Amino acid sequence: MTRSWFPPIRSDLVRNRLRPRALGLAVAGLTALTACGTAYDLPSTTGTYEAQASRIFAEARSTPPPKPISAAAAQARFDRVARRVRPAGRSACEQLRGPQVDCQVQIEIDRQMKEANAYFTYEKGRPVIRMSLPLLQVTRNDDEAAFVMAHEYGHLIGGHIEKKQQQVAAGALIAGTLAGLATAVSGDFDEDALARGLGVGAAVGGIAYSQTYELESDSLGTRIAHAAGYDAPKGARFFARPGKPQSPSGGLNFWSTHPPDEKRLALVLATQAEIDRGQGLRPAQ
Ligand SMILES: [Zn+2]
Repeated sequence: MTRSWFPPIRSDLVRNRLRPRALGLAVAGLTALTACGTAYDLPSTTGTYEAQASRIFAEARSTPPPKPISAAAAQARFDRVARRVRPAGRSACEQLRGPQVDCQVQIEIDRQMKEANAYFTYEKGRPVIRMSLPLLQVTRNDDEAAFVMAHEYGHLIGGHIEKKQQQVAAGALIAGTLAGLATAVSGDFDEDALARGLGVGAAVGGIAYSQTYELESDSLGTRIAHAAGYDAPKGARFFARPGKPQSPSGGLNFWSTHPPDEKRLALVLATQAEIDRGQGLRPAQ
């Protein structure tokens, strides 16, 4: 069961000369196109969950980070957790995304990465989740490692990379169209201005929706971690760490791409409550 969230991007739109009125319509249309949300409704976090998250968050922030475990212990934790999270993640992906999506994720340790980080990506068209050894070494328990891994599955199931690429393209199209509009109005159509607009748009489109996707991944990750037999709210405390957003080498780490935020914890708690009530996912309308 897959849904198409975007009509195909018409790249010819940016190449062709368009009259100002048509450009205005195109801009309006594209703005609507990028105003996309999550694939699933996120549970409400107001009230109890927010209060509870605040307490846990404050507690986690005031607890000193654990002493890193050895590389061998981190490897053993990774192997243990991957054995359980992989089948849970694959089954969720197959049920939710259907046969069109490759759900056989390669899960590995990124041995080059010096920062504590984890990511989901496609490599040669195949889905890959990687966790760095420094990240695994600062996990406090298997639940934390499992939650991070399950969260990365959430990016696959939410189709976030595809959506982000489409948003970047649409954002580029808007900026490009605006640049084209400006020059068209001034009577001197400038294709270079349009190309410059494309660059600006790519940055804007890429940033705008990332927090929404992080939240959706947290919610999907909670369900996957739970299905794999882990305590998701306990694992999600990893996000509340007072991690330094940047490592001494200047590279980005997990906390720079996943800013600690009480809302994330509240959402994990609210999702866990849904699971406990036997409530399934609701596709977004
Ligand atoms: Zn993420």
